[in-house]
Amino acid sequence: MIKKVGVVGAGTMGSGIAALVASAGIPVVLLDIPGKEDRNEYAKRGLERALKARPAAFMDPERARYVEIGNTEDDLEKLRDCDWVVEAIVEKPEPKQALYARLESLLKPTAIVSSNTSGIPMRVLLEGRSEGFRRRFLGTHFFNPPRYMKLLELVPGAATDPAAFARVKSFGADVLGKGVVVAKDTTN
Ligand code: NAD
Repeated sequence: MIKKVGVVGAGTMGSGIAALVASAGIPVVLLDIPGKEDRNEYAKRGLERALKARPAAFMDPERARYVEIGNTEDDLEKLRDCDWVVEAIVEKPEPKQALYARLESLLKPTAIVSSNTSGIPMRVLLEGRSEGFRRRFLGTHFFNPPRYMKLLELVPGAATDPAAFARVKSFGADVLGKGVVVAKDTTN
């Protein structure tokens, strides 16, 4: 069961995905890089953007209480008890790889990690990661805006555990209300 979700990257996609998950009544941790004065500035901005979005990113703005914000330097620990962590950071391999390395040693062994990447191949994303991490990793490609774009493409990797894949598939369809399709790991 996916009872708590982490979203890393509070930009266009991450803030929208967090709002979608929170709208379903599921607690979400939303992290972004630390700001200079306010350490949580970027995640806060993402949440505010979702609250102001038109059409609305939240089904009910009251559901924003399910979103806990933070930054990736001080608050990565908050992801420790998440069942699924979605990465939606900048579309470059190095920061994504660096984030996965940190998640690998932190998350519980059953936690699933996915990337919202538009086109970085999974073998690149997973460079340096263990077999155990590869088994619980997949691509989850939401479209913008996540609440309104019906499609959720799920991309299994060569090593993705079918049970982990099935957990995300049923969560995407039954809890988030997406039309889930299984896609291949091909660029864009
Ligand atoms: P964005 O630029 O709006 O947001 C990215 C966020 O990531 C920013 O808030 C940035 O501060 C943060 N960030 C950057 N490096 C970070 C790090 N190391 N740790 C934590 N946070 C970090 O980007 P976006 O449009 O939301 O795209 C996110 C991902 O989703 C990308 O992989 C992109 O290819 C993919 N995607 C985007 C769209 C779209 O329409 N925008 C659609 C499908 C997939």
